[in-house]
Amino acid sequence: MNIETARHVAARIWGDQNYSHIEMNGDLAEEIAKALMQNANYKRKVVTLNNGELTVTKIFSFCYAHKLPEYKGKCSNVHGHNSQLEVEIGANCPTQYNYPGMLIDFNELKAIVNEKIIDKLDHKFLNEDVDYFKVINPTVENMVIWIVNELEEVFGEALVRIRLYETPTSHSEWVRFE
Ligand SMILES: [Zn+2]
Repeated sequence: MNIETARHVAARIWGDQNYSHIEMNGDLAEEIAKALMQNANYKRKVVTLNNGELTVTKIFSFCYAHKLPEYKGKCSNVHGHNSQLEVEIGANCPTQYNYPGMLIDFNELKAIVNEKIIDKLDHKFLNEDVDYFKVINPTVENMVIWIVNELEEVFGEALVRIRLYETPTSHSEWVRFE
């Protein structure tokens, strides 16, 4: 791999939305490229830079309705949320798609999360339409727990963080311990 190829791969790993940032910051691109080149067999290995670990995140949007039984306040009534879910993937992802320079293909991540999570929650009344939340209170915290359990079945230890926004200013987050 030459330095230009490595620089391109580094930009892809960093994420498309930051591609221009990589292009502008030559030193950073160079640093990432060198780190990649030092790991000729970096597939499924941790890519470390400056004592940090590289991850990728995909963001999903969906709508749902719920109510919180026994809650003393407005949330005991049926109401809806426009929600945002962030799924972050680190190294050692066990899924089939295995492309040099990627922790996971964004298209693959999107397809899996849509099938396992979004299709089951989007435009649903959680308390009645989703079996888990027929018995478990559908708070944002419990939704995160359900999402982590569902996605760990696919991604294992590569699932490193879940953040679920109930509103733009309120979210719950799960982060894997080191
Ligand atoms: Zn609510």
